Amino acid sequence: MAFTTPKTMSLKKITLVAHHFGLSGSAGLKQIAEKVSGSEVSKSESREVIWRFYVSNINNLQENYNKKLKPSKSDLKQNKENYKSRQDFYISREWRSLRYEALRNSDGCCQCCGVKAGKGIVLHVDHIKPRSKYPDLELSLDNLQVLCEDCNLGKSNKWDDDWRTASN
Ligand SMILES: [Zn+2]
Repeated sequence: MAFTTPKTMSLKKITLVAHHFGLSGSAGLKQIAEKVSGSEVSKSESREVIWRFYVSNINNLQENYNKKLKPSKSDLKQNKENYKSRQDFYISREWRSLRYEALRNSDGCCQCCGVKAGKGIVLHVDHIKPRSKYPDLELSLDNLQVLCEDCNLGKSNKWDDDWRTASN
């Protein structure tokens, strides 16, 4: 199949190819061409290599680009619903009842630093394994610990430290 390489390629076409290979749109032509061919490409051949790849993969490129940059309407709707159900979780009867049980078991103290609930000290019931990563453990008493606000905000969803044994 013969290709006629145009003298110039639009930035959009170059960007599509660059993105496909995980490069930013501002990558140099030579750099992109070498990613495409997997070997060294001279500067004068770069445009042709990119063009050939573009022409033979135009459908895939466009499709991947759309998928990456434009979430579909149904994706957006799904995200919104997931977010809403996450917000609803903390006011659900199941969560409140389980949360209270965890507070009773902790004697009203932070299970990490030992501070007692009182003036200015707010206790949180924390998911040891964060809900964002382990949604199936969100209603498991065994996955809950009581932490003061300071300890809990420090932990956030970055750690899954279990402090319950430390206080026993
Ligand atoms: Zn604490």
